[in-house]
Amino acid sequence: IPVDPFDLVIFGGTGDLARRKILPGLFRRYCSGQMPTGSRVIGAARSEITVEEYRETVREAIHEFSKAKCDEAALEEFLALLGYVAVDARGESGWGELKEALRDDDDIVRAFYFSVGPSLFGDLAEQLRTHGLTNPEVRIVVEKPFGHDLESARALNAELARHFQETQIYRIDHYLGKETVQNLMAVRFGNMLFEPLWNAQYVDHIQITVAETVGVGGRGSYYDKSGAMRDMVQNHLMQLLCLIAMEPPARFEPDAVRDEKLKVIRALDPVDPESIVRGQYTSDGELNSYREDVENPASKTESFVAMKCYISNWRWANTPFYLRTGKRLSAQASEIAVVFKDAPHSIFGMDAGRHRNMLSIRLQPNEGMTLGVTIKEPGPGGMRLVDVPLDMSFADALGPDAEDAPDAYERLIMDVIRGNQTLFMRGDEVEAAWAWTDPLIEGWERRGDHPKPYDAGSTGPDDAAFLINKDGRRWRGIK
Ligand code: NAD
Repeated sequence: IPVDPFDLVIFGGTGDLARRKILPGLFRRYCSGQMPTGSRVIGAARSEITVEEYRETVREAIHEFSKAKCDEAALEEFLALLGYVAVDARGESGWGELKEALRDDDDIVRAFYFSVGPSLFGDLAEQLRTHGLTNPEVRIVVEKPFGHDLESARALNAELARHFQETQIYRIDHYLGKETVQNLMAVRFGNMLFEPLWNAQYVDHIQITVAETVGVGGRGSYYDKSGAMRDMVQNHLMQLLCLIAMEPPARFEPDAVRDEKLKVIRALDPVDPESIVRGQYTSDGELNSYREDVENPASKTESFVAMKCYISNWRWANTPFYLRTGKRLSAQASEIAVVFKDAPHSIFGMDAGRHRNMLSIRLQPNEGMTLGVTIKEPGPGGMRLVDVPLDMSFADALGPDAEDAPDAYERLIMDVIRGNQTLFMRGDEVEAAWAWTDPLIEGWERRGDHPKPYDAGSTGPDDAAFLINKDGRRWRGIK
């Protein structure tokens, strides 16, 4: 679907995120014909470089990171749409020039992407207002992390609200831009098949795993003050939890969807400390340990967290939700699994074995869904049952078009231009999520808890397996 012509300013346009995701993503949208002629992208960052130098940086980034089969002629056209202004978020330089670079035309959408460290979000908002760069139609896109705790998130919301309406603020969580995540809503609310079973009566439990093989890399100083709970659970895992657990919204519209997500967060029970396992990766002999990576030999920050939580409402009462995320694990895999209860009575006797239906929603690798169903084992061996997957991989379903399917950032940027906030977090949602995670974090900080060490390349600490095994269940997703 085409979008209106736009001026998009990327603050932090020379940074890692802009180079790896935002600019290659915009190029792919350009190649797909979705960036209308007359649109412009203006990099704005501290470096004093010329437009030509900026275009060269972007050319290299696209060669390195773009999934699009790079057509050099199209790349030249795209680069010609790029501008650059050196600007200081905390100073006076560059703002007049930026104002001149933008077109004062009501037909052109104006958006500012804050792809800079979170300490600059408030400064940028203020500068935009002071220098007359805003109007009621302007949109701002705010990267994560949105606050460090409830208090700082509230302060940031209040700061942004001094300059912008809530309808102008797009708080990005790129997990919501993933094809599978949106498909989860299509599957839940577009079919008669699942929704009647989507509750405590038929669902045994739900698991959400977001496993990474990478360590903290160059983000050590940030990560060590944050940890897996703040970096992953408070935002990405809770967003997935909301989408899987929410009531059907009346319409697929921003506030209808976000109201339902907010109700899920508010219905989450406080988590018992016994139901949380924190871990920290050790060295495997070749790669650094977590403590070496963050250069803090006494660090008590977790690079892994697993937890069991409950949503106290009619739909989900007493249904456990197991969440797990960590770095340097055995596989790069993200999955939501809805595990249904056993059939009430087996007519096939004990020999048939115990079988459960399960819907697995894979975010990566190989985005898609699998429904596990039980059938008779083929052959003459009698009535023996076996689980088989009804598999839908998006790559297979979309065929050659799969390569061109937009990735999360591309899709979300286009939603900003369209003015569609459905897949962005509202301020009250973010605050409610912090209000739930803050006491957990404060609890282990107060007790001085040490995370459990786990081997790099494993599935996390043994206690995480125990957390679910003691309930007669087992983790899925990574081995
Ligand atoms: P980065 O350090 O690579 O880049 C920061 C950018 O901000 C640079 O372009 C720099 O010139 C600019 N900048 C710094 N100080 C400035 C100032 N005073 N005035 C104007 N510009 C200034 O950071 P990044 O990794 O690109 O991350 C940007 C944001 O995105 C952060 O909030 C980060 O948490 C978030 N984020 C990054 C990633 C990622 O993969 N890199 C993923 C998710 C979220």
